[in-house]
Amino acid sequence: MVANRGEIACRIIRSAREMGIETTVIHSQCDDDSLAVRLADNAVEVGPPPASKSYLDIQAIVNAAIDHEIDAIHPGYGFLAENAKFAEAVEDAGKLFVGPDSQTIRLMGDKLAARETAKKAGVPIAEGSQSRLDSLEEMCTVAKEAGYPVLIKASAGGGGRGIRIANNQDELKRLAPQARAEAQATFGDGTLFVEKYIPQARHIEVQILGDGSEVIHCYERECSLQRRRQKVWEEAPALVLTDEIREKICASAVTLAEHVNYRGAGTVEFLYDESTEEFFFLEMNTRIQVEHPVTEMICGLDLIREMILIAQGSPLCLKQDEIRIRGHAIECRINAENPDQDFMPSPGTAESVTFPAGPGVRFDTMLFPGCNIPPYYDSMIGKLVVWDGSREAALSRLRRALSELEIEGIHTTKSLHQALVENGDVIALNIHTGFLEQWLSRRQSFHNR
Ligand code: ADP
Ligand code: ADP
Ligand code: MG
Repeated sequence: MVANRGEIACRIIRSAREMGIETTVIHSQCDDDSLAVRLADNAVEVGPPPASKSYLDIQAIVNAAIDHEIDAIHPGYGFLAENAKFAEAVEDAGKLFVGPDSQTIRLMGDKLAARETAKKAGVPIAEGSQSRLDSLEEMCTVAKEAGYPVLIKASAGGGGRGIRIANNQDELKRLAPQARAEAQATFGDGTLFVEKYIPQARHIEVQILGDGSEVIHCYERECSLQRRRQKVWEEAPALVLTDEIREKICASAVTLAEHVNYRGAGTVEFLYDESTEEFFFLEMNTRIQVEHPVTEMICGLDLIREMILIAQGSPLCLKQDEIRIRGHAIECRINAENPDQDFMPSPGTAESVTFPAGPGVRFDTMLFPGCNIPPYYDSMIGKLVVWDGSREAALSRLRRALSELEIEGIHTTKSLHQALVENGDVIALNIHTGFLEQWLSRRQSFHNR
């Protein structure tokens, strides 16, 4: 059973079918004619459109799994994918959860607990608090020690939400209550901590796979092009790394995962400071990640398949030295948003669509001609992924593939990516996590087509 929607639900169904596994997808009332529903063997409605009443309703989903005699549940990303209570409810119902056990999710899904684990495992973390900060005074003390600017972060945070930057003590005092309120409202947990802000850093993350006794890595991705701390363009490998640093950062990720006897696919996220060649642990995502296809393209793997095999109890079928990087892959997130209107969501009907194809092109999407994009969920509607032998060739292929992509009836971020792929700094890989927002603030229009 796939407990998700959109492109990732389609992605999981496809791997399961190749493995000869019968698939059932859950859906809300407004997703009854989605591509995932069309692709799956069975579909089951779990509630009305608002996610809190359907895709986030643990009891409704577990009941559906029991009623339909499901063996295993894949949670995808977002929604309940990193919710330890959901994993526990699935375990209690006697079903397999395709992911780590609920205890591991509890340990690593919480950013503060994960920082603690990283520290114990000897993995470098950014300066900041080692425990929850309940009072403003405590926050000011930790921030002063780390040195401004600092980030105020929600321990339960995700998707770039609940993060605030404070340049001085006054800002910290003003922003902390806002961050706490947002974290409480978004994640149901207002626990905050403070971390030193690392300017002009790169976001580098390592894909890992564990079977409970052994952990391997599938190298790294660079995800520095972000808007509101959400990735919009990802690549693999991260060409900024030397082989020596690549081995070091991947080894750190493996050490951390081994420390918790990790079982499943996961991602260990780091910030990398090019000027000092230092890296700092950010968080671990105990699930499949949006940008997993770039790793699949350079390593020749199917990560969803590996996740399902691990959940079935199989030992890892690959050895570390069998995983090698070949060529370069880039992913662009295509969102139903209008880049000319501050990325305002653009739900509606995709009247007609033309998908890019040809050598080295993969388009993971939920779109089909005439499909409806409901206003209730994340605006990502597709991921354009290209692969070629070198980064330069991959960029050419990306230009070509973007020019083939046509989506009529809604606004999309295609025009943003067309501008990025022509940008001199992007071409030279001269980027950092603040790059895109700085560039956007100088730019007038995308002449959205
Ligand atoms: P990734 O690196 O996979 O993009 P993100 O943290 O950006 O990881 O989250 C992946 C997806 O899940 C995004 O679509 C994001 O909006 C969504 N998401 C992440 N965390 C949450 C959360 N706590 N609540 C709701 N949606 C979330
Ligand atoms: P989320 O769970 O929302 O993904 P992360 O901790 O992974 O939160 O951070 C998201 C993004 O915020 C990072 O990719 C980076 O761009 C920025 N960020 C997080 N921590 C720091 C830091 N200490 N210094 C600078 N930027 C940071
Ligand atoms: Mg993150």
